[in-house]
Amino acid sequence: MVSFITVTDTVYMKRALVLARRAQGTTSPNPMVGAVLVKQGRIIAEGYHKKAGTPHAEAIAIDAAGSRAAGSTLYVTLEPCCHKDKRTPPCTEKIIRSKISKVVIAMIDPNPKVSGKGVEELKKAGITTVSGILDKKARDLNEVYIKHITKKSPFVVLKVAMTLDGKNCNSTRRVQVDHRRKGPQGSASPAQQSRCHSDRYRHGKSGRSATYLQDGKWKGPDTDHP
Ligand SMILES: [Zn+2]
Repeated sequence: MVSFITVTDTVYMKRALVLARRAQGTTSPNPMVGAVLVKQGRIIAEGYHKKAGTPHAEAIAIDAAGSRAAGSTLYVTLEPCCHKDKRTPPCTEKIIRSKISKVVIAMIDPNPKVSGKGVEELKKAGITTVSGILDKKARDLNEVYIKHITKKSPFVVLKVAMTLDGKNCNSTRRVQVDHRRKGPQGSASPAQQSRCHSDRYRHGKSGRSATYLQDGKWKGPDTDHP
């Protein structure tokens, strides 16, 4: 539920979203998350999750702030985690220990292990909690994670080089694909970029050329393609 939203809240949450996007393509299967700590109208620390198994955004920001975190407001793009069956400790415990007084959240974590429970823990500890700030932007940022966690199925992206009349190869049954080229409409939107880069390290580096044969096999420099 959204309540007590101010323009300032939106500004700081936008900053947290920018931080989260810095790790685009490297956090899978975890979501991209950014965090900003604000005290007396100033940002005192920032953080973002870089890779699964490494510290979460909130933990990085809190560690950077040290004792100054007490009494501050945490802006975080995803509900802080509260479950223990993972490689990093729950962020809710760290937030409570650091004596942060308010937590502003963009979106509730769709992961059933967290979903609403993180907020409840914070509230029980007496921390003011607000959620839903720029919720749509946070959901767009993590659409791959949301699909994975709610549907238990991969987010599939199909990129096809195709002519306007629906052909995808020439008379020799081959087509040269150059990922570096932008389409005639210019740069891709942030959401399109997110899809293109969501798992690029698993499926081959973007910005390289590859030859796709009509029978579905790859040939050429993209040897890391399956
Ligand atoms: Zn966490």
